Amino acid sequence: MANHVITATAAMLEKMRNHYASDITGHLPAGALFVAKRSGCTITAYRSGKVLFQGKEAEQEAAKWMKQSGQKETAAFQPRLAAASAVGSDEVGTGDYFGPVVVAAAYVAKDQMDVITATGVKDSKLLTDEAIRRLAPSLMSMIPHQTVILSNPMYNDWQRSGMPQTKIKALLHNEAIRKLVEQLSPLEPEAIIIDQFIERNLYFRYLESETNVVRDRVYCYPKAETIHIAVAAASTIARYVFLQEIERLSKQVGMTLPKGAGAQVDQAAAKLIQMYGPAILETCAKLHFANTEKAVRLAKQ
Ligand code: MG
Repeated sequence: MANHVITATAAMLEKMRNHYASDITGHLPAGALFVAKRSGCTITAYRSGKVLFQGKEAEQEAAKWMKQSGQKETAAFQPRLAAASAVGSDEVGTGDYFGPVVVAAAYVAKDQMDVITATGVKDSKLLTDEAIRRLAPSLMSMIPHQTVILSNPMYNDWQRSGMPQTKIKALLHNEAIRKLVEQLSPLEPEAIIIDQFIERNLYFRYLESETNVVRDRVYCYPKAETIHIAVAAASTIARYVFLQEIERLSKQVGMTLPKGAGAQVDQAAAKLIQMYGPAILETCAKLHFANTEKAVRLAKQ
């Protein structure tokens, strides 16, 4: 079981005692100030200022306090995370007017890390579409993965109901991760690393009313693809599935749908309106983007 020790000032110890007040137990080992038991983690604070975290969630519970005390978790923690057998997850399509939002979760075990790194997999933003199409199929045959596709009609429904894009992402990440964790079971990944689009606390707040939330060993880091290859793999797979979806939609409407949200996209959307009427956009675009209004104006010219 994971152990983690941090050093706290007297003020920090007091803060911790308040924070864990409802979890404090009566049992006190020699030299201890308090012991708190939470599901996944037992916290023992000593008069010396040392605080011991034990259990499945020890590292991430300790990390919260290290951040506050200014102690660098990056020095020891991130390299250890990089070497773990981990699930990574990433999303694509949120900045593209046409096409769905796709989230992929991928698992890279320790012993596969070198092989996967050697394929040249990295954050999908750094790879051309061509490279993605070349890399992704073999990658997908090598590692366990799951993808979740939020279709345009569904995305538009959720968006109209007032759901912020960050919550949409949170729901999809959790879904992809949940499916992959189920697939891997009884094997348990040592870490689950989300390419951060929102702070970890807020991520879980968005998932509060969900029944099936993966919480154990979940970490959120910005630029997580630089921390663990599983995130880079997830990013590549997500982009590949997105490209396939854009192709499928392009065939459906009989013209190539451009990526991104630039002027080319306005032109294409205007053309679609002229060909089929404005309702067509509901099926293949994210309607709340400013591109919709521009396209409607362009279509009238
Ligand atoms: Mg990302």
